[in-house]
Amino acid sequence: MKNIIILGSTGSIGTNTLDIVSKFPGKFRVVGITAGTNVDKMEEQIRTFSPLLAAMSDETAADRLRTRCKGLSTRILSGTDGLVKTATMDGADLVISAIVGGAGLVPTLAAIQAGKSIALANKEPMVMAGQLMREEARKARVRIFPVDSEHSALFQSMEGHRVQDIRRLILTASGGPLWNLTTQQMRAVQPEQALKHPNWKMGPKITIDSATLMNKGLEVVEAHWLFDIPASKIEVVVHRESIIHSLVEYTDRSVIAQLGLPDMRTPIAYAMNYPERVPLDLPSLNLAQIGSLSFCEPDHDRFPCLGFGYEALKVGGTMPAVLNAANEIAVQAFLDRKIGFLGIAETIRRTMGQHVPVDVSSLDIALKADLWARTKAAEMLAIVASAPAVVH
Ligand code: NAD
Ligand code: MG
Repeated sequence: MKNIIILGSTGSIGTNTLDIVSKFPGKFRVVGITAGTNVDKMEEQIRTFSPLLAAMSDETAADRLRTRCKGLSTRILSGTDGLVKTATMDGADLVISAIVGGAGLVPTLAAIQAGKSIALANKEPMVMAGQLMREEARKARVRIFPVDSEHSALFQSMEGHRVQDIRRLILTASGGPLWNLTTQQMRAVQPEQALKHPNWKMGPKITIDSATLMNKGLEVVEAHWLFDIPASKIEVVVHRESIIHSLVEYTDRSVIAQLGLPDMRTPIAYAMNYPERVPLDLPSLNLAQIGSLSFCEPDHDRFPCLGFGYEALKVGGTMPAVLNAANEIAVQAFLDRKIGFLGIAETIRRTMGQHVPVDVSSLDIALKADLWARTKAAEMLAIVASAPAVVH
């Protein structure tokens, strides 16, 4: 029996994780859960899974949850301190890191330092402080298992192989809901349209990141830190069907890939049970029925955010943290209809352009860069909203 903690239990990854837990009651016990503001779902999860600890980052939400759960055995905590206490609690073996955005950095890093293995969905902390996360994991002798489907595919395609024999990593990208639009058409895109992902059901932030291809830019950085492979050996190919989840090419030109119908429960279950594979009752891949798979180069002109990921990695230091924070501010502003779709890339470009990077030698430096970029990006929003990006 593994004792697990789920950071971000009410989200898309969090609920998929709990779905797996329910299917294997003898394998997992949920000892801690955390969320931001969703009191209804937290109450339901507390009543179903009876964790020892439950934390909400929002203090008011935590108060409401306490009232609703009076008389139950679960202790309810709040704020960042509550998230950290839950993430580091004694007796837990594995932490599923599934908060969205930079808010996951502090609790995830604390879990690593407390010696917990990590199943990592929350890619943003890896972008903000990848070197630190890797270093701390090494010191604490814990493993970080990828949950992101591409990274899980790379991890699976590397099993039994030597890192020095890798020639390149090839990340697949679905292209998202706006792949076929011209830049001119993108100018008028509304949040509803950008939130309609063709293949995956995910939270709103990552769905917008898929529409801008920022998600793939973040994933390039994530792959770099997870697998210690330089950016020059990480490529992206657009594969609209999301059947091949990513590929590894070896020096003898042999290419190994992992395939499957797009369902996050497969990579989540693999990270939770590694090295065991558990039987999941999901539809099987039928290649004859699918008929053909397509591939093409990503278009950097229409989707500049992918290039920002490579650029941030090349510059190094705090630049990836700045890229991530500017993106979070810009995505929220787009969802709030304060800027247009093209304004997302423009806000990130302008914020990165003003940053003077330093080494990320401590958590404090990463958090300072994050705060600087959020403030700077918020300033940029006004400029971007009044002067829309140049259309090629
Ligand atoms: P989501 O929006 O559905 O859920 C986010 C979770 O984080 C919720 O439980 C929410 O309460 C919590 N949360 C939000 N803001 C918070 C804050 N400030 N403090 C504490 N908790 C907070 O997101 P998701 O789609 O499940 O994605 C979670 C992470 O996994 C993201 O980093 C995303 O990039 C990554 N990921 C998701 C998918 C997917 O299929 N959804 C696939 C690959 C990677
Ligand atoms: Mg992914």
